[in-house]
Amino acid sequence: MSDVYCFLCGANAEVAEQLEIDLAAALDLPRSRVPKAFLFSPEDELFQTSLALCAPHDDLLSPSAPTSTLAQLPASSSTIHLLRACVPGPRHAYAEIRHAPTDRAYWITSNSHIFGHEGCFRILQNVLRRDDWVERFWAVVRKANLAHPAANGISGVDYGEEVDRTQGRTAVLPLGNFDGPDEVRAVVEAGDEAVDEYWVGRGAMWVFSRPDAFPVQEALENTFAPIHLPPRPSRHSRMLSKFEALPVELLCAVAREMDTLPELLDLLRVSKTIRHKLVSSLDLLVRHLIRPHFLPPFALHIGGFDSSDSVSLVEDMLWSRSSSRSTTPDSVLDVRRPFDVDTPATTPTDSVRPPFPWLRYARECARSASMRNRQRIIWICEQIADMVDELTEADIHGAG
Ligand SMILES: [Zn+2]
Repeated sequence: MSDVYCFLCGANAEVAEQLEIDLAAALDLPRSRVPKAFLFSPEDELFQTSLALCAPHDDLLSPSAPTSTLAQLPASSSTIHLLRACVPGPRHAYAEIRHAPTDRAYWITSNSHIFGHEGCFRILQNVLRRDDWVERFWAVVRKANLAHPAANGISGVDYGEEVDRTQGRTAVLPLGNFDGPDEVRAVVEAGDEAVDEYWVGRGAMWVFSRPDAFPVQEALENTFAPIHLPPRPSRHSRMLSKFEALPVELLCAVAREMDTLPELLDLLRVSKTIRHKLVSSLDLLVRHLIRPHFLPPFALHIGGFDSSDSVSLVEDMLWSRSSSRSTTPDSVLDVRRPFDVDTPATTPTDSVRPPFPWLRYARECARSASMRNRQRIIWICEQIADMVDELTEADIHGAG
């Protein structure tokens, strides 16, 4: 695998192709015969190869040579632009990317010409939520990497242990945590059961998944009964029976005090009686615990769940998306718009559609390679947001 990484997620731009090459070699098969279940989807590949370059405006207009010394760096970040519609260049392994519409080639440098996936920049934009987010991001990278040079990312940012495993010569073996080709072969031959483990388990291939495949359709199609959650043994049966005897309204009030989904699930596992009593309120309870970032970006524009009107609007849009398979992944939408605003083609009315299954949606998010990667990228973007908060005027506008 080439040694060029997105500065936002730490993942490579050409891993789909490299994965196919590595798997073919490990399995001793032609590339066309590598099992598809172990390869990235075309949508994942599109996300990986849709790039953007963050650099001083003048350098974007005349890209013949990258800024290579500190003296040549502009003092101010006010001229920084984000050039979208880039793809890996023919010499991507040597840090080249190409602007597809003009065919101009650019070289990436780790403190002035910064690149990343377009989809990752979209997430950063939604985390920072400020007009000058591009300039601030550039100022953060310049400050961090001038002080502590880092070739493939932002110095001081933790990209996660899974990414560290990818820094080898081949994609599959270190990322999949495999000991060698024999183990790769054994996993592939194990069939369906091994596929989940390969993507979201020990294999950790999820770190390259596109982070915008919101599992709306899966939530509507896959049933799940919380009533079958395994119970958690309790040694305080007298207290438990008093707790179980509480009116449903009071139990719901307790459940609303839970801050996270795992806490709510723990409460459900206290006893079968508790689960029975809360089951009709679960979708409502879960909806309050779903972070807005795990909803399609239009929900951020609407305001998430700020009011009952916005809840209704978000649910309408989710239902309308579920009726259309042609939904465009947000990594390939027109990223010039500040936030996605999709207009539903058809909006089912309240009288015909059931409530949105939030509990099932949360469960699908927890099982999704895409959503797990989204969570990781948001965690990285939040680290960058903290660094943005620490910028001084001199960091942004130059020392004088
Ligand atoms: Zn990325």
